[in-house]
Amino acid sequence: MDSIRSRFFWQGVGNKKKYHMVRWEHLARPKQFGGMGFIDTRAMNKVLLVKWLVRLDSGESNICLDLLRRKYLGGNSVAQQKKRGNVSQFWQGVMNVSSWYEQGLGWKCESGALIRFWEDVWMEECPLKLCYPNLYTICQNKNISVAEAFEKAWNFDFRRGLSKRDLADWRELVGKLIKVSVTKKRDTPIWKLEKLGKFTAKSLYDYKMTGGVDKIQSAEQLVSRKWKGAPLCKLCKERETGEHILFGCPVAVVVWCWIRDVFGWEAIPSGFHNLQSSLGETSTMRASGLVLVASVCWALWKTRNNWVFNNKLISNPKIPAYQTIGYMKQWAKMHPKSENLLEDIKQLMGGMSCW
Ligand SMILES: [Zn+2]
Repeated sequence: MDSIRSRFFWQGVGNKKKYHMVRWEHLARPKQFGGMGFIDTRAMNKVLLVKWLVRLDSGESNICLDLLRRKYLGGNSVAQQKKRGNVSQFWQGVMNVSSWYEQGLGWKCESGALIRFWEDVWMEECPLKLCYPNLYTICQNKNISVAEAFEKAWNFDFRRGLSKRDLADWRELVGKLIKVSVTKKRDTPIWKLEKLGKFTAKSLYDYKMTGGVDKIQSAEQLVSRKWKGAPLCKLCKERETGEHILFGCPVAVVVWCWIRDVFGWEAIPSGFHNLQSSLGETSTMRASGLVLVASVCWALWKTRNNWVFNNKLISNPKIPAYQTIGYMKQWAKMHPKSENLLEDIKQLMGGMSCW
C-alpha cells in the first residue's frame, strides 16, 4: 500500500521509472516536522492495535474485552503478561505492538497490582529502574508489582549487601515510598503523550513518526529525571540545556555567525526568544526561515549526539554548516515554493567559501 502510494507520488501515473528523492518515512512525517503529512498506513495500523491494549488495561468492560482479558491476561496488565508461544494470530499481532504501547504508558497507583514496581512509570516521571539503576541491578525480584512490594513493607531482597552509595539511593527511595498508600481500587493507566492522560491515536502516531524529536533530552533534563550522568556539555563543560546545544555552545555560535554574515543580521540569536527578530530582518528569510532554522538545529543536534553517544567529534566547525545545507537541499525538494529557499542556499554556499 505505502509503496504504491510512494511510487505514485514520484512517478505520477506514467510508467517511466523515476527516482524517489526522499525516503518515504520523511514524507510520512507530520507537516510540522518537515514531512508532507501523508499517513504511513503500516504505522497507523500498529497505532490502532495499540488501542486494544489501552482498552484492555483500562478495565473497560464488554464481552470481547472480558474474554481477551480472561484468556490472555488472567488479572495482569498487558506489560506484566509474559509472552506465550501458542496464541492466536490476533493476539500475537497485538503483543507485537506492546513496546509502542509502553512508550506512552504511565499509571496512577491505586491497588498497585497492575503496576510493575521497577519497570513502569508510576511514581516518578521515569521508571524507577532508570532512577535507581544500582538498586535495580542487585534486586532479586525484578518483576515485583507495586502491590507485592507494598505488602512486604518495601523490604526488597537484594543479591548482596548495600554499598555506601546504594544505601544513600535506598534511603532516598524509601523517603518517597513512605508517602505511597494503596487502595482497593483498580490501577488507572495514564497516557503520557497527551496532556489530559487519555490515549489518542494521533499522539502516538506523531510521536513515532518524529522519533520523539520534539522532546529533546539534554543532559540537564536527564539529570532532573535522576539520570546519574554529567549535566555538563561534553564539549565546553557549560551547563547543557537544549538552548545551549542549539545556540550557546561554541560549535553552534560558529554556525550562527556564518548565517549572520551571509544574511547581514545584526547579531546571532542567543536563544529561541530572539531568533524570530533575526529572521524578520530579511524579507526572503520569512518564507524559508523555518527550513533554515530546522536544518541548523537538526545538524547541531546530530553533531552533539555523535559526540556524546559515539565519541565522534567533528574535525572542523564547517561540517555542521555543510550538513545544514544538505538538509535544506533535501527539504527544498519538498517545498512548494522552493525558489527562495534555493536562493538562500546559494547565498549560504557563497558565504562558506570566504569563511
Ligand atoms: Zn557546549
